[in-house]
Amino acid sequence: MDLYAGYPFWLIKNPLYNYINEAEDGMHTDVAIIGSGITGALVAHELCSSSISCAIFDKRAISTGSSAASTAQLQYEIDVPLCRLLEKVEEKTAVIAYRASLQSITDIEQLFRKTRIDAEFERRSSLFLASDKKGCKEIKKEYETRKKYGLPVSLLEQEALLQTYGINRLGALWNEEAAQMDAYRSAILLLQHHQRKHDLRLFPYTHIVRHDATRNGYILYTDDGKQISCNYLIIAAGYQASSFLPRKVMDLSSTYALVTEPLHADQLWHDRSLIWETAFPYFYLRTTADNRIMMGGEDVSFKNERLRDALLPRKTKRLLEKCNELFPHLPVRCDMTWCGTFSSTKDGLPYIGAYPGSRNLFFALGYGGNGITFSMIAAQVIRNKLKGVRDEREAVFGFNRK
Ligand SMILES: Cc1cc2nc3c(=O)[nH]c(=O)nc-3n(C[C@H](O)[C@H](O)[C@H](O)COP(=O)(O)OP(=O)(O)OC[C@H]3O[C@@H](n4cnc5c(N)ncnc54)[C@H](O)[C@@H]3O)c2cc1C
Repeated sequence: MDLYAGYPFWLIKNPLYNYINEAEDGMHTDVAIIGSGITGALVAHELCSSSISCAIFDKRAISTGSSAASTAQLQYEIDVPLCRLLEKVEEKTAVIAYRASLQSITDIEQLFRKTRIDAEFERRSSLFLASDKKGCKEIKKEYETRKKYGLPVSLLEQEALLQTYGINRLGALWNEEAAQMDAYRSAILLLQHHQRKHDLRLFPYTHIVRHDATRNGYILYTDDGKQISCNYLIIAAGYQASSFLPRKVMDLSSTYALVTEPLHADQLWHDRSLIWETAFPYFYLRTTADNRIMMGGEDVSFKNERLRDALLPRKTKRLLEKCNELFPHLPVRCDMTWCGTFSSTKDGLPYIGAYPGSRNLFFALGYGGNGITFSMIAAQVIRNKLKGVRDEREAVFGFNRK
């Protein structure tokens, strides 16, 4: 499956990490990670930093899966608002999930600070708009719920929203705990950092087509007949992980995104907040370091790549119209546009950790709109698992959650 089509901004803005290294038949690694996207990179970071030796295998060029197409907004708010998540999962699960997401933004920030990686990580505020009257009721309920559990949130009434942002909606939730980054650049720089510092081994263009359990771990089979052995296997294969899973855990959708031509910094909205809304699928916007607006949404159920790609012109037009409805004064013109495939789960939570009944096999599947913050959590949970450290997040995001 092509994970995306069109012109993802980050792939044009950044140079390709054109690294070639062929896996040898019969090679062994303590930990094998399948996938070199932001998830695989964060898992490798956590393991290398704990002196656990690992190697990454990817069927594509390094980090050119979904991470290269991501709009990379980091928000603690999960796609499913807390007040609704509480109806779907146990109270403890919902609250830990929200708190873990909040913490992961700080953890990502600290990671880049510590490694001195310039991933265009920038702290931002988050503005969650009421799309209509129903949305207005929902944000009020959500405000009370988040307050109850001590999560950072403020309520902006219609007048304040208009005054501060020039946006004419019935109200919004606001918090200053969000961030944005360049997920493609982050993954590549992180992997290069650990290649230099910890001898991390990368094997691009290495398609793993089968894995068999052995007494001590796994044998991986490549599409060109090689065998690789490992003690532990970590699946960070993104939206193509279903071939490693005994049962379906996610639904695929097609999603659309674009960046505008650069504007003047003073034309952009207050605080350059990340903006999204209560309607589902939601429309969302952020800005880039060079003063473009990056926006996305218009999700539809995924049937195949051909149908997904055919909708791109129409969806691009619709995204620009939505931006105009929000900010009628902004002279926005599309520069690059792309579409991608996206996965979500029934409760909006990712699947992280061991698959029940499988030994030494761990999944890092950050499905949902918070893919990157979930990747950070997955990396820490798996590191803790390998080190024998208890982690309450394992049950929250595990395959057996209630
Ligand atoms: C348009 C769009 C917008 C998004 N916006 C946001 C956002 O604002 N915020 C956010 O947090 N998330 C967002 N997401 C989600 C986020 O981008 C993903 O969760 C994240 O990039 C997934 O990273 P990953 O490393 O798990 O997957 P990927 O980057 O896809 O990496 C997985 C890798 O595994 C490799 N692979 C798969 N199968 C095999 C195999 N059998 N053998 C070898 N290699 C294999 C693939 O080639 C791929 O390179 C968005 C996604 C899209 C498409």
